[in-house]
Amino acid sequence: MTTLFISDLHLQLSQPPLSSQQELLRACLSWLGSKARGSEALYILGDLFEAWIGDDDDAPWLQELATALRELNAGGTRLYFIHGNRDFLLGADFAQRCGMTLLPESIIIDLYGRPTLLLHGDTLCTEDTDYLKRRAESRSPLWQQAVLSLSLADRRALADSLRNESKMAGSNKSMEIMDVTSAEVLKVMEEAGVDLMIHGHTHRPARHELSVNRKTAERIVLGDWGVQQGGWYIRAERDGSIELIQFPFTTQ
Ligand code: MN
Repeated sequence: MTTLFISDLHLQLSQPPLSSQQELLRACLSWLGSKARGSEALYILGDLFEAWIGDDDDAPWLQELATALRELNAGGTRLYFIHGNRDFLLGADFAQRCGMTLLPESIIIDLYGRPTLLLHGDTLCTEDTDYLKRRAESRSPLWQQAVLSLSLADRRALADSLRNESKMAGSNKSMEIMDVTSAEVLKVMEEAGVDLMIHGHTHRPARHELSVNRKTAERIVLGDWGVQQGGWYIRAERDGSIELIQFPFTTQ
């Protein structure tokens, strides 16, 4: 019995696609068809996609990915998805096409007898107040409705222009450069009453030991996937063992 966790693949295929984007997609499909096979559950903790413009996006590679997830699910692996800051518009339709269950932004699961808090991780970065304000706006039904009511072509153009804008600004102030606020981590874990938390987002894969409610606790951070660093996942076994694993794309 094995439960797996991944996050921050940041999948995208621009037009025309870069070879690195295609390599990343291939690595993901290959991982889903090999290492993920036979696991009891797979939790995707956000930013599977670099951007999400709506479940009606008809790009063929999205269908290919949905099919791979659905096949994994058909093989007996339960699939769960928590939104990241980049793919928060992913909706019930696409989740259903993938055989995934959408989870709330944070949830406590029973990981082989151990209560474990799962979340993407952006809400732990409380020092970026600009982002948290924008986040609140963009999660409102009104905002989401306004964006999703645009034509698919308009939403694609909007996503491209936002991408170019941030490139041109040069600052490239990416959410992911911020690390979590330690006090917020403690607060969230204490309130949840857990001694294990798993998240992604910061692209700082590590295992951190800390003290929560005067007991030893752990925060495990998933890594982002890319052709340089390869992929990251967490494997939890029924016997209580947990591993944070990095693998190169080439030897899969
Ligand atoms: Mn993120």
